[in-house]
Amino acid sequence: MSIAVLRLGHRLVRDDRTTTHVALVSRAFGCKKIFMTEVDDSILQTVRKVCVDWGGSNEFEIEIIHDWKSLIYSWKKENGIIVHLTMYGINIENLSLDSREGKNILIVIGASKVPKEVYSLADLNIAVGNQPHSEIAALAIFLDRFYNGKELVYSFENAKMKIIPSLHGKRVRIRKLKKLS
Ligand code: SAM
Repeated sequence: MSIAVLRLGHRLVRDDRTTTHVALVSRAFGCKKIFMTEVDDSILQTVRKVCVDWGGSNEFEIEIIHDWKSLIYSWKKENGIIVHLTMYGINIENLSLDSREGKNILIVIGASKVPKEVYSLADLNIAVGNQPHSEIAALAIFLDRFYNGKELVYSFENAKMKIIPSLHGKRVRIRKLKKLS
């Protein structure tokens, strides 16, 4: 079972920061891949640099797509399920995801208005509360509920830098690179 994110829509410049944060939350909280549409190259560079510095280059993938509908159709065809996070959905508080165990999940989140079809193509329209807020918050809370907090203690392989958690101050272990002979 694995989880991927489809970031649907991106308003150039205006959404740069939000889309970057969506990708960082996806990586940090247990998603294997993010599919994005129409993003600026600098977003890819930022996220890839985080993977190089803090780990995950081999565990987290980014793919730019041009046809989100084909992705959704092929995901469903391969027996995966589509979870669309929307304030119009069933409140996550009133839903159990247990019966979907073992299936690959594609989480769809929007930037501005999400096309109507997404609501019918989704297997589950899930609301993180039925109030408008943010895709970053919705994604983080969904993943936390899904993993029951286990995503918070996940550690990545091949990290150059690793935090030594401290109540006071900042401590970071930096991996020394081997010298070429
Ligand atoms: N007005 C837009 C619409 O009708 O889709 C909402 C845009 S909102 C800024 C961007 C994204 O945040 C939405 O597409 C949705 O994925 C997510 N979102 C916002 N509030 C949410 C909520 N209460 N529950 C789940 N997702 C939410």
